[in-house]
Amino acid sequence: MTESTPLIATPEHSVEGFVREYLRELNFSQGTVLERASVNDKYLALARTVRHYLMARWMRTTADQIRTQPKAVAYLSAEFLLGRQLDNALIASDLESIAREGLASLGVDLDELREEEIEPGLGNGGLGRLAACFIDSLATMSVPAIGYGIRYEYGIFRQTFVDGRQVEEPDNWLDRGSPWEFAHPEHEVTVSFGGHTEKYTDPSGRERTRWVPGWQVLGVPYNYMVPGYRNGRVNTLRLWSARATHAFDLKIFNYGDYAEAVRAQTFAENISKVLYPEDSTPQGKELRLQQQYFFVACSLRDFIDQLLPEGFDLHRLPERIVFQLNDTHPVIAIPELMRILVDEQGFEWDEAWDVTRRCFAYTCHTLLPEALEVWPVELMGRLLPRHLEIIYRINDDFLDEVRESSGGDELLVRRMSIIAEHPERAVRMAYLATVAGAKVNGVAELHSQLLRDKVLTDFADHFPEKFTNVTNGVTPRRFLRLANPGLSALITEAIGDGWVTDLDRLRELEPLADDAEFRRRFREVKAANKDRLVRLLATRDGIDVDPGTMLDVMVKRLHEYKRQLLKLLHVVTLYDRITSGELAVEDVTPRTVVFGAKAAPGYRMAKEIIALINHVGAVVNAHPEVSRVLRVAFPANYNVTVAETLVPAADLSEQISLAGKEASGTGNMKFALNGALTIGTDDGANVEIRQLVGDEHFFLFGLTEPEASAMQEAGYRPSSYYEENASLRRAIDLIAKGTFSGGDPATFAPVVSNLLDEDRFMVLADYQSYLDAQERVEAAYADPDAWSRSAVLNVARTGFFSSDRSMRDYLDRIWHAEPLPANGE
Ligand SMILES: *Cc1c(COP(=O)(O)O)cnc(C)c1O
Repeated sequence: MTESTPLIATPEHSVEGFVREYLRELNFSQGTVLERASVNDKYLALARTVRHYLMARWMRTTADQIRTQPKAVAYLSAEFLLGRQLDNALIASDLESIAREGLASLGVDLDELREEEIEPGLGNGGLGRLAACFIDSLATMSVPAIGYGIRYEYGIFRQTFVDGRQVEEPDNWLDRGSPWEFAHPEHEVTVSFGGHTEKYTDPSGRERTRWVPGWQVLGVPYNYMVPGYRNGRVNTLRLWSARATHAFDLKIFNYGDYAEAVRAQTFAENISKVLYPEDSTPQGKELRLQQQYFFVACSLRDFIDQLLPEGFDLHRLPERIVFQLNDTHPVIAIPELMRILVDEQGFEWDEAWDVTRRCFAYTCHTLLPEALEVWPVELMGRLLPRHLEIIYRINDDFLDEVRESSGGDELLVRRMSIIAEHPERAVRMAYLATVAGAKVNGVAELHSQLLRDKVLTDFADHFPEKFTNVTNGVTPRRFLRLANPGLSALITEAIGDGWVTDLDRLRELEPLADDAEFRRRFREVKAANKDRLVRLLATRDGIDVDPGTMLDVMVKRLHEYKRQLLKLLHVVTLYDRITSGELAVEDVTPRTVVFGAKAAPGYRMAKEIIALINHVGAVVNAHPEVSRVLRVAFPANYNVTVAETLVPAADLSEQISLAGKEASGTGNMKFALNGALTIGTDDGANVEIRQLVGDEHFFLFGLTEPEASAMQEAGYRPSSYYEENASLRRAIDLIAKGTFSGGDPATFAPVVSNLLDEDRFMVLADYQSYLDAQERVEAAYADPDAWSRSAVLNVARTGFFSSDRSMRDYLDRIWHAEPLPANGE
């Protein structure tokens, strides 16, 4: 790449220019003509056309970064849950209306082509989506940044239901062509595994260590554009794909063992084959550690070799880069950088450590102890023997420090060791990240506080200056501007369009909450969004939803801590009260309860809960009386694309995790920004949402974190709630006796006994409080004008949850990097 402005022919920003470019793509790239083109041909040609408009900005952004050598942010994440690319590229480049008009002049419908895109599902849920929001914000803020991750050939599985049970199907998102990526095999990187280490004496007489690997694979980078919103900037997301080394297959081919050569290739390529479909559940597979090291080793090598000028003095690395570790998945980057500096660059240990500990910062995403990653020493030693040695040395030095500062408190030393001794010797990745990282952050105020007080307490005492908070955010481009065009237009009409990149300006809507005409138009938008959702559910899932009902939505990964069961017990209780005659249909606010959730395929209880939701739904929806006022809709395969239609249509947002378990949540932010009211516990970012929107516009219920902890400590007995609360008992009995499983009590017995015997997430303890809060919801919903006033205030007061603000906080508190000037065009 030269340092001068690259020469790129950008097509003309006009309908004619667009049409010319589009036809050229259709003819010369797709190799077809309009009359014979399939919908997929037309989509691919459109994607490439839009891409061309962004190309010059992309190349200029890269050239500027190479020329000015600013400090950059490298966001290391095993997941990027991007969602569809076309829509976002269209709004970023201000091509929406040009594309629509241009295509229409050819008799092509833009909306039909948008539906053709399969979203890249390279993430499980919130963590991966957060990474996608963050790189969007960094690009929009002109911050020199690069995202590094894995180009999984198969992303998160496609979910279908058979007899109400989850069935997983492979997500072959690359099959129909992938117009948004650029492969660069010429920049492939070699990654080593296995083997052993040995000592040797270098020419200057120094005793050193080298790693003699057992096997190697290649990492091929695929670049994706990350367009900033109308600021002339396009950053890069670089995802790595694994290939067999050429030497490997050539040698075996020469021996004539074709089958062995192919096997070796398959073995290597397995590394980037599939995303692990896990989220907040324990995970300890060898292939997963291979994936982690693979993408991190590629990324470090790439940054040092490709993005730094030749001969750069690596002692100054912290001036040029900060690697943000998105959870523990990339933490193996820490010993990898040490290895590069000490073994390859000849740094003294202390020099290397001084550089390394200023290059990394760590974001913790959980409070569940079982979700904190540990790798058995045996496995680490077999796969990455040199890294294990380096981790031991880091640990020895650190524990000496702890010993000294604590006056030899050996209990403390053992507690803080990076190496756990029980149940087996294992590397605690969160501890390694905390010891080495310059900063450690939680993702909401409450979460950061609990991290300090409960999870990493000893470390917070030892390194108080390291700990900080950055509350998560979501990108307003995708989750408001794109997902909710109706509300976007209404907001822009009222306050101008500055909010898209400065979401605090939504505050200017506050006075309009008292404007009856504005509220009426707000309700019109909500009604139109509901109609849009109804059409989607009808065509996509064959689900019939009445748009006149309250839309009560709970969409997120299926996990016991998130408590989909609590929502379901509410549904069962309503069913029970109506069928028993306790409640007259006329007195019930008609509602549609929408669930969306994937369960990790190996998480048995989560899959049982999915089946139970579907079975309850089938009975409720088939009941002549009940279904007049209560319906359950559970569209399969919840993903970003579905979220974009669901969130703007929702009236009520369910954020009902047990307090102290949800680190932040981001779904909660998307709903509030789109004018849904939240029913929620005092957990994660719900706390901040409630503080901002005000108690009277939020339905709070449930135990607080200190109450829940105290109750657990005193010995929580779920069965006592069952015994003492008749309504709860009846709901559980209905499930237990087989009402929702064709009369078979065995079907859901594991769910019932889990609730009655253990109930780790205290569903029964919060049941009554939740029901009471739902009664307040009904009362509030009965007054549409007051409800929409609250909804408008939710929109006006939640601009804080823009990921642009999160990025500003990271820049100020953690990264200390500066944006480039926007690229005026
Ligand atoms: C935002 C989002 C999530 C995270 O939802 P939470 O409610 O915060 O768990 C998960 N999946 C998808 C597809 C999302 O868009």
